[in-house]
Amino acid sequence: MEFQDRVRSALGRAAIRSQQRSAGPPRTTRAELVDWVRAHLPDRTMVVVSNREPYSHVREGKELRWVRNAGGVTVALDAVAQALGGIWVAHGNGSGDRAAADAHGRVACPPERPRYTLRRVWLTREDHARYYSGFSNAALWPLCHIAYVRPRFRLEDWERYREVNRRFAEATLEEVGDKPALVFIQDYHLALAAASIKERRPDLQVLMFWHIPWPNPEVFRILPWRTEILEGLLANDLIGFHIREHALHFLDSVAASLEARVDRERLAVERGGRRSWVRHFPIGVNADEIAAMSDSAETRAAERAIRERLELGNCRVGLGVDRLDYTKGIPERLEALERLFEKRPEWVGRLCFIQIGVPSRIELREYRNVLTRARAIAERINSRFPRASSSGAPTVHLIEASLDFRDLVPYYRMADLCAVTSLHDGMNLVAKEYLAATPDLEGALVLSPFTGAARELERAWIASPYDREGLADAYHAALVEPPDARNERMAALRETVLRRNIYDWTIEVLDAVVGLNLRTPAMETSEISGD
Ligand code: UDP
Repeated sequence: MEFQDRVRSALGRAAIRSQQRSAGPPRTTRAELVDWVRAHLPDRTMVVVSNREPYSHVREGKELRWVRNAGGVTVALDAVAQALGGIWVAHGNGSGDRAAADAHGRVACPPERPRYTLRRVWLTREDHARYYSGFSNAALWPLCHIAYVRPRFRLEDWERYREVNRRFAEATLEEVGDKPALVFIQDYHLALAAASIKERRPDLQVLMFWHIPWPNPEVFRILPWRTEILEGLLANDLIGFHIREHALHFLDSVAASLEARVDRERLAVERGGRRSWVRHFPIGVNADEIAAMSDSAETRAAERAIRERLELGNCRVGLGVDRLDYTKGIPERLEALERLFEKRPEWVGRLCFIQIGVPSRIELREYRNVLTRARAIAERINSRFPRASSSGAPTVHLIEASLDFRDLVPYYRMADLCAVTSLHDGMNLVAKEYLAATPDLEGALVLSPFTGAARELERAWIASPYDREGLADAYHAALVEPPDARNERMAALRETVLRRNIYDWTIEVLDAVVGLNLRTPAMETSEISGD
């Protein structure tokens, strides 16, 4: 049965009602996710474990203020945790986090209407430098993204990563007590947490979602601690990736590095009498909420204000939205823009480009380099291809800031073209958010084939960031496509994004766990193709 059909049948009448209510493709709402969770996981505490916390407290003078950390996964899992009254274990890094929490690091969330417990894990500056900046982001991140930045493997970082993972596991176990629970671990910062949890509580259901790519086994085998990372991950009952290729790479890495039975047919690994399932679940976005936000009067007013402030005049608008990360292909994107102006001077003065660059991991040299390169290319384009306007408004606007999601939506709305040019990306949510935020179908998505999103968004203008000519040509083709064809293309792309939103993703992952309950005994050996 197709996933959507299974969700619909699991949701029953509520889903059919919602389908009749709303125009466009069938989709799951937040309320339906909550109903589904209550119906299918009634007796289990849900524990989310992630590096980033869903709510932070910040000090403002003598006052404590709380902020909700945005992001699709956080918002959907927050809804699940609220519905089940569960626990969320995460690093407390807000300036007011300690003051807001009790002696055990606990704080009731959401702060204005408590439904679950956030258990904050405290890290020292040194912990953060080694576990987060060191092993997570200077070793695992470049190892898993093929962006030709050499990973740095330092024993001290690895040891601290192990230690911090143990602390996240300890905090999880303390919070669960002796209750039955479903533990949902997020991402590469916490590859070893499941092993420590299962050691003490083998009865708990533990799953992990790896949100970044998994490299092929030739790349993965350079990691000195590959065996430990794989063993740590195989302590999970289920390991999720965004795309099938990454799931298969993971199985190949296990086959190459461990004594284990790897079942490529059913995507499972059996080792030491235990089985882990490996699945792919492409993540979605809060599509309907984004569309409604984009259509609001506030967003329209904000769009007008931005157009005025940046003096965009009658220019068509290209847009890039990324953390300033070397995997995102930001210099490549701008160099292709420069090439477009060289090849087709008719665009000079008629096309502006806004790059939102969120400062990120600035403690690492490679990240500072991205910023320096992006600034230099933007300046070069602005001096080589100035706009004719007397005010001297630039062609490329590099906005170095982290915008609140609400403030980002007007940029999505105004963009005639959104360029997502990652050198490698697990999914890339910006591509999907842009489509969701373009209800009038006036726009175009230029998308790197090396994103997870390109698997689903086949009708985007697919262009490689490594091919400057091809990328420049894609910009041109996207901008000159006749309106009817452009709208038809955007409608098809949007439908894909609306059809499978973040709530579908959450149900799909949790539904897989509910299903695993039915077949936990060891695999029948006849069905295994061993390695
Ligand atoms: N984003 C944001 N403010 C900004 C720029 C980006 O909230 O100023 C959000 C954006 O909406 C998206 C996320 O950051 O949800 C970026 O996700 P993506 O998967 O594209 O890349 P990641 O940063 O996770 O590697």
